[in-house]
Amino acid sequence: SLRAAATPIVIVGHVDHGKSTLIGRLLYDTDSLQDGKLAQIVESSRKRGLAVEWSFLLDSLQIERDQGVTVDSTRIPFHLGGREFVIVDAPGHRQFLRNMITGAADAEAAVLVVDALEGAQEQTRRHAMLLRLIGIRHVIVLLNKSDLLDFDQAKIAQAEIDVRDLLGRLEITVEAFVPASARDGDNIASRSERAPWYTGPTLVEALAAVPAPASRLALDFRMPVQDVYRFDDVRYVAGRIERGVVRAGDRIMIGSQGQQATVAEICRWHAPANPVAGAGESIALRLEPDLVPDRGDLLFPAHETGNAPIRAARIRTRLFWLRGEPLRVGESFTLRLATAEHDVTVASIDAVVNLDDLTLSAADEVPPDGFAEITLATSHAILFDPFSPGYSDGRGVLVDRFQRIVGGAPLLGAAELPDGTHAIH
Ligand code: GDP
Repeated sequence: SLRAAATPIVIVGHVDHGKSTLIGRLLYDTDSLQDGKLAQIVESSRKRGLAVEWSFLLDSLQIERDQGVTVDSTRIPFHLGGREFVIVDAPGHRQFLRNMITGAADAEAAVLVVDALEGAQEQTRRHAMLLRLIGIRHVIVLLNKSDLLDFDQAKIAQAEIDVRDLLGRLEITVEAFVPASARDGDNIASRSERAPWYTGPTLVEALAAVPAPASRLALDFRMPVQDVYRFDDVRYVAGRIERGVVRAGDRIMIGSQGQQATVAEICRWHAPANPVAGAGESIALRLEPDLVPDRGDLLFPAHETGNAPIRAARIRTRLFWLRGEPLRVGESFTLRLATAEHDVTVASIDAVVNLDDLTLSAADEVPPDGFAEITLATSHAILFDPFSPGYSDGRGVLVDRFQRIVGGAPLLGAAELPDGTHAIH
């Protein structure tokens, strides 16, 4: 039987609004601290009547990670009612954004921490924009530090309206607004006695209600080619299935060549033979005829389903810009898309997001850490599935000539040419 995968969540919010405190509190309250010593520290400071600084828990995890004790530095597991979650975390704001954008954090849900007294601040807006950009489907807002408002219903309702308005403009649906105190533990794992008027879920209840990641098996088959191996005179096309299933006997299309082939055999390493393979599996295919796709090529069903990938040389792209200097029209990059790498040029900057009011306006350049809509041009038409929230489709990454990631670039679709004709094919 298959073990259910852990549900990845991210915790975002303006600096000092209480993210670290929340993580420490969550780990402690859900009994997820692997190192019993941390729990002892908490208990002994309590016994001595000292306040527990929850964010220290996170700091000590950080130290463990720096010492190499924890293998994966960006994932903190915790469990809730038999279900595994993993908090995707990264030291430093920039690193965190890079992780989010490159898909290291393919998060299913996000907790947006907002100081109920201060309300939404600049990073709240940036992070909300980022959640929208990478398409996180389940957002829970924690109105933290509600203790500073004495859990006053009217004041908390006011704080909620502002955040609701911000997220509404980004078309982000919120699962719950939870008035809470991460420091004191109100409405985190246990219901607050200071807010008897609140009838919604605690944070832990809201997280437990997040559906497990959707199955990608029901979608059309896609496999980006990783490599082609040769054993004796037989060639095998290797890759990881992004979505859908493939069966021996299926007719598939090799994207760049526009040629069809039949799947003659599906091979796996260290696994029993099985004529069917599905999303998430790494396999090697023997094709008939024995065609040789390149790394980065895309395999998809040959039969027309109406969901074929898009082929375009001008691509409408959302951009999350990470370089310290602005982006200008005419600059060239490598676009990484699954296993493919394409040379691209910025053909136009179509609109830049103003973070103060989330409006779009025309601009000549994208500022550092800015969000924009741009058009990328390639010399040959490339194949891609448009970005769709919650899936890995179309999640491009822009890389400069020093191999540095400079932007997240979800591909939206084929761009119109300036004269209005379509740039497809
Ligand atoms: P981060 O920068 O978002 O990780 O914020 P921290 O978790 O480091 O918290 C910033 C400050 O806010 C610390 O001094 C915390 O003790 C304090 N803080 C966090 N949560 C609460 C809360 O629920 N109530 C109050 N009154 N203070 C809190």
